[in-house]
Formats: sequence, structure tokens, C-alpha cells
Amino acid sequence: MMTNFQTSTSSAFIVAGPCSAESLEQVMTVALSVKQSGACMFRAGLWKPRTSPNSFAGVGAEGLPWLQQVQKEIQIPVATEVATAEHVSLCLESGIRAFWIGARTTTNPFLVQQVADAISKSGTEEEVTVMVKNPINPDLATWVGAIERFKAAGVKNIIAVHRGFSDSLTVPTDRQMRNDPLWSVPLALHRCYPEIPVLCDPSHLGGDRALITQLSKQALQLGMTGLMIEVHPQPGSALSDSGQQITPKEFESLVGSLCMPSIDDADTTALQALRSEIDRIDNSLGNLLLERLKVAHEIGTLKRESGISVYQEQRFNQILENRCKWARENGLDEELVKRITEAIHELAIREQL
Ligand code: PEP
Ligand code: MN
Repeated sequence: MMTNFQTSTSSAFIVAGPCSAESLEQVMTVALSVKQSGACMFRAGLWKPRTSPNSFAGVGAEGLPWLQQVQKEIQIPVATEVATAEHVSLCLESGIRAFWIGARTTTNPFLVQQVADAISKSGTEEEVTVMVKNPINPDLATWVGAIERFKAAGVKNIIAVHRGFSDSLTVPTDRQMRNDPLWSVPLALHRCYPEIPVLCDPSHLGGDRALITQLSKQALQLGMTGLMIEVHPQPGSALSDSGQQITPKEFESLVGSLCMPSIDDADTTALQALRSEIDRIDNSLGNLLLERLKVAHEIGTLKRESGISVYQEQRFNQILENRCKWARENGLDEELVKRITEAIHELAIREQL
């Protein structure tokens, strides 16, 4: 069983397998093929935390012998999602030693603590691997809190998994992806725990198989240790997440197309010169921001004197519209520019309040 994932810097650490375990044949077929393509760990969900009560909720404990068979015959470590103490003990009884905590569970400290306690009570804290997905919302403290609970329970192999955030300022129908990447959040997590590997789950992040290659490459460029990818023999007829799973063959070509970038910072003269340019521009941006704040302050005084409220929605809509139009014309990510504009507006509002 794998213990230290930090050493695999020359190739990505890849966890792959179906969203849900559906049959013995399905898990055996996928496990064999993803292992041959270079996956280090097999994943398959048994207990599925579905948003809608009408969706397929997983085969539950019935699938444990299937996973046991995968581990034994295909010789690949198997991971499944756990959300309760009962899930943990059922898995341990079946020899499953790798778990992931789903995004919906990470948000719940009671459940996270229950799982952490179940692991430490079983005495397997030094053997198991726990992959902690980010919480649904971009709440770094909750993600950190969940990791802390497993650390306190003595778990040695902790991995963080970035699967994107649903708390976006855009309405879901306007979104290109199922979840918002907000890359700055997993990067901040890595700054808190440089020793904890971070994987990216492009399947749940994008929610669309067409986005998986692009997102996987972006994650590796950001220094992530590896990926968790959903693979299904017939994605179109999968019982869950059918739009985001890829076939074993697609997985094989994806893995073949990945390369791990070097994380060493080559501090060449050319790079140094460009970085000084960036520092100079950042200073100018900072000074412009200060200048803008001074004007906002004066506007605040005028509003107070004339009894006008600080927040003027019509004016703000106009600013947002202008900035978004500017972003489109200049080929910039409109959503991101909108977010920056909102943050700048928030600064001004606070100044006026
Ligand atoms: C999963 O990995 O199958 C899953 C349910 O993911 P998430 O918790 O990221 O939604
Ligand atoms: Mn899924």
C-alpha cells in the first residue's frame, strides 16, 4: 500500500475509477484498465451523497466485496467515500484502507469528527489514507478544520482534493463549469500545509468530460500533485455523473498527454527583468487603487451631506456593465473581471461606510 505520495514528483499521482460502483464486472474492468494506464489508486463510490433524493444513491455495502476483489486481484489500492463511522468500519472489515470525504461531508464538522474518531478507534490511523475534498463553499477554514480533525486523530496520510466550489457569484445557468475552480483556494490550502499533497478532481470541477484534459493540465501547471478522475466503461449510461465520466481508452490517452512541470523556479536574468516589470505594474495598480479610494471617500462625504445612501444600485450596475463589456472587448475572463470589480466596489463601500 502506498504511504508517501510526496515522492512522486516526476509523475502525477492519479486516482481513477467510476463515480459509483455499479457491478463487479464494471469495477474489475475499469480497475484493470486504469491501472495499466498508470493510475496509482482506484476509486468507486458506494454511498453517494446526492443533491436530489431521487438520484441513484449508490449500491452501499453490497459493493464492498467487489472492491475487495479489485484490491486482491488487480493489486491496486482502492478508495471509496465515507461519511459515517459505520461506513468506516464496514470498509475496514473489507480491507479498504483509503477513503475520501466528499465535499458535502467536509462542510459538516460532526460527520468529519465521527469519521476521524472511527479511524482512530480502529487503530488504523497510520495505515489509512484520507482524501479530504474541499467543502462545497469556498471556505478555507472549513477545509483546514476537516484536515485538522484527521491530523488530531493521528492520520498520517492525508491528501487534499480540489473539486471546485458551487458558491459562485454567477447563477448556475451562466456558468461554463459545474463548479467554480477558484484556484486561489487550493493554493492557499497548500501554503497552510506544504506537506499535504493536493489533487485536482477535474470531473466534479468541470462537470463535463470535454473539460477534463484542459483542467487536468491546468492543475498540474499550478503544482498540484495529481488528479482524481472519473472513468466508466460506458459513461453515457452511468447511473451517476454520466456527463463527466470518460472511457478507459480516453483515460489512457489523457494520462499519456500529461507531463509534470518542474516546480523549481529557474531564476534567469530574463525572468528577473520581467518580474521587476510585474512589481512595477503592481505598485502602479496599488497607487491607482489608493487614488480611486480617495475619490470614493469624497463621494461618500457628498452623499452624507446630501442625505443619499451609500449604495447606489443603478450606478453599480452601470460600472459592472462597463467593466464586463471592456473584459469582452479585451478577451479577458468576464466573470473574473466582474469579481475584481465587485471587490474594488466593496473597498469603496467600506470607505464610505
Ligand atoms: C464523488 O467523488 O463521487 C463525489 C460525490 O464528489 P464531490 O464530493 O466532490 O461532489
Ligand atoms: Mn461523481
